[in-house]
Amino acid sequence: MNYLDGKSAPGREDRLKANTAFGGTCSQMRNSARNGCFPDGGCLNLAGRRFAQTQGCQFTLSLATLNTLRNAVIVMHSPIGCGACSISNVGVNKSYKQLRDPLATGIIWLNTNLDEVDVINGGEKKLRETVLFADQEYRPETIIVANGCVPALIGDDVDSILSDLQTQTSAILVPIHCEGFKTKVMATAYDAVYHGILKNYIKMPERREYIAEPDLEKLKEQYRISRNVNILNVSSMSRADELELQRLLNAIGLNVNFIPCYAEPEDFTYALETSLNVSICGTHDDYFVQHLKEKYSISFLIDTIPIGRKNTERWILKIAEHFDLQEEARQLISAENEQLDKSLEPYRKTLAGKRVFLGGGEVRIVATAEIIQDLGMKVVGFKAHHLDQFVEPIFESLAEIDDVVVDVATNQPFEQVNLIKRLKPDVYIGHTGGHNISAKLGLPILPLFGPSYNYLGYSGTFEVARRLNRIVKNGQFNKKLAQNTRLPYKKEWYEKDPFTYIKKEDVV
Ligand code: SF4
Repeated sequence: MNYLDGKSAPGREDRLKANTAFGGTCSQMRNSARNGCFPDGGCLNLAGRRFAQTQGCQFTLSLATLNTLRNAVIVMHSPIGCGACSISNVGVNKSYKQLRDPLATGIIWLNTNLDEVDVINGGEKKLRETVLFADQEYRPETIIVANGCVPALIGDDVDSILSDLQTQTSAILVPIHCEGFKTKVMATAYDAVYHGILKNYIKMPERREYIAEPDLEKLKEQYRISRNVNILNVSSMSRADELELQRLLNAIGLNVNFIPCYAEPEDFTYALETSLNVSICGTHDDYFVQHLKEKYSISFLIDTIPIGRKNTERWILKIAEHFDLQEEARQLISAENEQLDKSLEPYRKTLAGKRVFLGGGEVRIVATAEIIQDLGMKVVGFKAHHLDQFVEPIFESLAEIDDVVVDVATNQPFEQVNLIKRLKPDVYIGHTGGHNISAKLGLPILPLFGPSYNYLGYSGTFEVARRLNRIVKNGQFNKKLAQNTRLPYKKEWYEKDPFTYIKKEDVV
């Protein structure tokens, strides 16, 4: 795989044949994913909807990673509304940057504010002025230009403009082509960001040649590098998650480095001094690690996400295998499991038998279902943003899942609400942004991810159990909300099949 000669990363519809519209059971979904077709015919890759209520935008998801980068100014080349969601990240981003570097600033972003006149005249002038202003005013190491739909539609040649401006700025200019209209698979955002990082940040460090000379100190440094692992965090891992994974890998003798979130430009240079790139989720990182393998021969691991004890065990063992540290890993796993069993005991009584619906990224929801089953709860439904090959290994940690209902839909709250009414879960675990509908149905809600909470590793399993216990015991707020609010759907919609609007081939 090498897409780096291109201006931007391809959409995942094309590169991974990803699907964004499916309704059926888990066993039907897994069979369909294997052969690329719906059970009763029709191409999975070409599926769509006759009616869609909302859709995801890769521009906004790209910002979730870009806004975390240190010593950078973000220029949103778009109408003003495109990056408005960044406001919700301001506090978290500043605090988390400062956990890495106390002197780090919060997010600095500028918007070129394209309007109707620019649609006719082009946005080049505004882009030039904004980049030069960012360079002179803030003196950052890098200026990242995230490209929205409008400049792509009117034909602004962002790459040429930036390459011309590069001679006038001290900051390195980094274009990120993440126009929302180009893909229905929002996760293409990860590829768009990694494309920019691979082309502009990743460079072979000069230090590598220096340490190659035979000398005891330098050999020690080489040994250290041979024990280095990069763990890739594209904003769905909290600092508490990072610390838990670091603790587990340190315990078997490995050094850990986290990129790209909260990294600064220099971190990417030394990111090549590693023996293994570890993805916590194929949906995030395959584009990045495959390019690093091809260009710099660095091995990578994409397997499962360390959520739930079986997935965590599998993840640790796969990493240990690369370094021949299986024995150390087994000892660690056994000690951790013993401790976890004791700590989960008080919660099992409250949670056993409760029915759970999970919505969010395909890999994450299926892995989180392992915790649900571990606690004696029952999974009754999944709603995945999209479907691709990376979900398959995660199912191995689950029992009795074949008949569980799956909806593949990026957002589409009308399908979610119909399913919840039918399946009657006791708890909803979902991606942030999809909670208001479920809250108005009176369900207790656990966010699938929160930047202040721990979900990964053994301590993450404990934290999920502890928080589930609390929301199940105290669900009054959402019950009152359900009594005093109403949803916008007619009762006829609830009588219809939730997958009524899914069509087998998305003929445009
Ligand atoms: S879809 Fe296009 S116009 Fe809409 S927010 Fe995303 S980048 Fe902006």
